[in-house]
Amino acid sequence: MNNPIIRVLPPRVADMIAAGEVVERPASVIKELVENSYDAGATSVTVEIRRGGMSLIRVTDNGCGISAADAPNVFLRHATSKIYDERGLEAIATLGFRGEALAAISSVSRVELKTCQNGAESGTLVTAEGGTVTDISPCGCPEGTTFIVRDLFFNTPARLKFMKTDSAEATAAAACALRCALSRPDVALRFIKDGEEQFATSGTNNGTGEISLRDTAYSLLGRDFALGLTEVKSGDATLSCHGLVTAPTVQLGNRGKQYFFVNGRYIKSQLLTAALERAYTNSLPHGRFPGCVLYIELRPNMVDVNVHPAKTEVKFLFEHAVFECVKNACRQVQLTDIKYQISDIKYQISETGVAPIIPVEAVVPEVPNVKYSSPPIEPTRTENILPPEPQLPIVNYPLSIDKPADKIINYPLSTINYKIVGEAYNGYIIVETPEELVFIDKHAAHERIIFDRLKENAKAELPQILLAPVILEPDAEDCELILANLALFEKLGLLIEDFGNGTLIIRELPANCDPGDCQSLLEELCTRLRNGDRPGYLPREDEVLAGVACKAAIKLGKASDPIEWTPIAKAVLSGSIKTCPHGRPVSFTLSRGFIEKKVSR
Ligand code: ADP
Ligand code: MG
Repeated sequence: MNNPIIRVLPPRVADMIAAGEVVERPASVIKELVENSYDAGATSVTVEIRRGGMSLIRVTDNGCGISAADAPNVFLRHATSKIYDERGLEAIATLGFRGEALAAISSVSRVELKTCQNGAESGTLVTAEGGTVTDISPCGCPEGTTFIVRDLFFNTPARLKFMKTDSAEATAAAACALRCALSRPDVALRFIKDGEEQFATSGTNNGTGEISLRDTAYSLLGRDFALGLTEVKSGDATLSCHGLVTAPTVQLGNRGKQYFFVNGRYIKSQLLTAALERAYTNSLPHGRFPGCVLYIELRPNMVDVNVHPAKTEVKFLFEHAVFECVKNACRQVQLTDIKYQISDIKYQISETGVAPIIPVEAVVPEVPNVKYSSPPIEPTRTENILPPEPQLPIVNYPLSIDKPADKIINYPLSTINYKIVGEAYNGYIIVETPEELVFIDKHAAHERIIFDRLKENAKAELPQILLAPVILEPDAEDCELILANLALFEKLGLLIEDFGNGTLIIRELPANCDPGDCQSLLEELCTRLRNGDRPGYLPREDEVLAGVACKAAIKLGKASDPIEWTPIAKAVLSGSIKTCPHGRPVSFTLSRGFIEKKVSR
């Protein structure tokens, strides 16, 4: 008989294999250690690395500490104080729970643990190397815990080979520390690289004793980004979403600044990204992205965090509810943005729209009460210490939202002193204000106005009842699609009757649509029905709305009546519309200063 060849691996080897899952690189060590600090109730955490974390990672916290009896056991596999049995797995309230991280880390490095439990007389020092505890002794140290991890992967040369340069590891480590800091704005976190502080947040030690998300974002993500953020929130005690999102005017080239935290845990999630981006579908062009720092809180039993080795993915029990909650929160930025624009209007009333321009005193928007106390720990990057200049045209402040959602599209109190200069190329309305020339794409702007109106209330404008109904015979595929969407069309003011045998009778058309254009309108709407919901397109219904708006809007390249220019100019100047339904800008400006400079005045 052959000798048995299947053996259970010795625990040390099993630990090293497990370590491969948890400890991929220095950044993953930082994540585990900081999470332990958070679980220990720390309010202040310092992370220090040398040589990208390969030679040293030190994490110090002021948390609850570990008793002398427990200290050596933290390196045992599956040793944890956070859950006791399988029931604990159903509602995990801590970041850690597997009791794996310290065993894994210590099996591939040289570790030193210094810890003192709250109220204890003295602390404990434990050293371990390659997973084996080499020394335990009492020591003096402040309450809290310090972990030092040296020579990562010293005993796994295969692993070591896969490490990138120290500077690449340092970058990944910094990104990880940043996510840790963002995940808990209430904790003060410092990150030090090769002896130099890279960033620091102030937690609640910011003078007010309150958590300021904006301060945290300011310290971590830079001034420019932080100033473009608006505070949003929605939901209730069971499921909520709050945080900061970028204004629709901020268009980022990638998703790198989308940070989601679920119950305090940094999470990558297509569901959450989709919910965020859905809120911007009408304001950002294809290939441009919003940024956010969003915190989703829900009952621990509504989310499974045990689906990924690094716990960076989760499974939601009620995905739809989470999607809606996040989307609704993010939508508030659209409201807030418009409200801000109203208060920012710098010109005075002129209802005629062609009044001579009288220089008027700018109505300086009242700066909402936002505190930019710089963190008590001096940030090293100068951009973080500069206070914002108050006269800056800051895009968004967290303004209270007191307008109900369905009132978004009231083009505000056009309190603007302007003069329409004329139209260029039968397409671009040129408007003069005391400070600048505004060039407006008349078709795109008009399309957006109609789109918003349709969206607000599909029947806001009475459809035109056709005296002579239009009879059409679209191709079979289109006909089927139209018949399947009669109700949607009717909502938009397009009343179609099925005459049978592939014949349709159009009895009512949306206002502004040309009865002679029925066929191309329907063809257009069919194309949009097919494209809707695809990447790069709007949700299906919106896509159809945009189709009607496009057909009803004044045409580019055709001279239009100057009377039609005024409402368009007003809507653009008031800031109510900025982009077409697909997110392309509808206007741009040339400042008076720029023009004068061009002619050396
Ligand atoms: P887990 O976090 O999954 O419980 P770890 O291996 O990360 O597993 O940690 C093991 C145990 O060590 C924790 O359950 C906790 O009791 C203790 N511990 C680790 N780090 C700290 C810390 N910074 N402060 C207090 N206790 C800690
Ligand atoms: Mg842990």
